[in-house]
Amino acid sequence: MIGYPADCGGILVSGGNMANILCFAAARNAKAPWDIRKEGMNSKQQMRVYGSIEMHTWIQKAADLFGLGTNSVRWISTDDQLRIDVPALRERIQEDLDAGNLPFMVIGSAGTVSTGAVDPLPELAKICKEVNLWFHVDGAYGGFAAVVPDASDDIRGLAMADSVAVDPHKWLYAPLEAGCTLVRNPQDLLNAFSYKPTYYKLVQDVVNFFELGPQNSRGFRALKVWLALRQAGREGYVKMISDDMALSREMFRVVQAHPELEAFTQGLSITTFRYVPSDLRQKPEAESYLNKLNEELVVRLQNGGEVFVSNAVVQEKYLLRACIVNFRTTLDDIHALPEIVARNGRETDSQLRSFK
Ligand SMILES: *Cc1c(COP(=O)(O)O)cnc(C)c1O
Repeated sequence: MIGYPADCGGILVSGGNMANILCFAAARNAKAPWDIRKEGMNSKQQMRVYGSIEMHTWIQKAADLFGLGTNSVRWISTDDQLRIDVPALRERIQEDLDAGNLPFMVIGSAGTVSTGAVDPLPELAKICKEVNLWFHVDGAYGGFAAVVPDASDDIRGLAMADSVAVDPHKWLYAPLEAGCTLVRNPQDLLNAFSYKPTYYKLVQDVVNFFELGPQNSRGFRALKVWLALRQAGREGYVKMISDDMALSREMFRVVQAHPELEAFTQGLSITTFRYVPSDLRQKPEAESYLNKLNEELVVRLQNGGEVFVSNAVVQEKYLLRACIVNFRTTLDDIHALPEIVARNGRETDSQLRSFK
């Protein structure tokens, strides 16, 4: 559906675990000069994984859980569009090789959780090929955007990955929870997870999902995902996802046009912005107050029940984050948002200032 090979292997799992599974599979399939399955990770060399500082926290959990340790995660800086800095990535890999460490995986985000930024996936694929590293794309939120007709070459680059994680409970609108790991070579999951004890006398020529992930007994998560695909179809999803992205671009426009709001980023279906009282515009000394004000404002908006925005921190600025992943969101909702935010912003501002 998203341009990934149709003969890939895959498994639907509980939320978050798609990424854990893949990290484990990547490590198990690393070209290490020892038997990782028998001797464990890091037994002879320190294994290393790379991604940008905008990477989601799953990688910390995964590195911790699998005994790699969080020091194995190399956080690479980003450019002014919050995409991974490719030259910095190359340098870090080389440093690790020179130090005798074992780089095994590069993670590209498509898109990032804060702003929907998409890393230059084709460039990452090229590096991974050169250095013989596993290339994973974290498309938990944004991977499905590769399906729209005007998708960028950057996001379409996920077709080159060794594995892709996507969350049907995000942009396929499935009820919580259904995560999905796809691997280019189905054998990779078997290498990582399959054991064949004598008491499992199972038919051998069907897919036994317990051999593709950590769970033995498992629920039928595929049903809700499959039914929705049958009902909406590929075309239905193209339309719904395209609409969400168009609404987000419109949100950026209306936020930018509002005198008390300051727009920051727009990527995929995420728009970031903040409330700035008229007398504090263009005042660098007001930055720390603006952070406090917008932090309070997020809480006020969430409790208010009119709109639900979350937060993002971009270049040390505390921002409001509107992510549209609901096919029921309309243009009217988008147009109503700026004034709701401004009204709540004014109220929060006067409250905070009266306590000074
Ligand atoms: C949501 C998200 C995750 C975590 O996925 P869950 O299945 O919801 O736990 C990982 N990475 C990114 C980029 C995400 O947006």
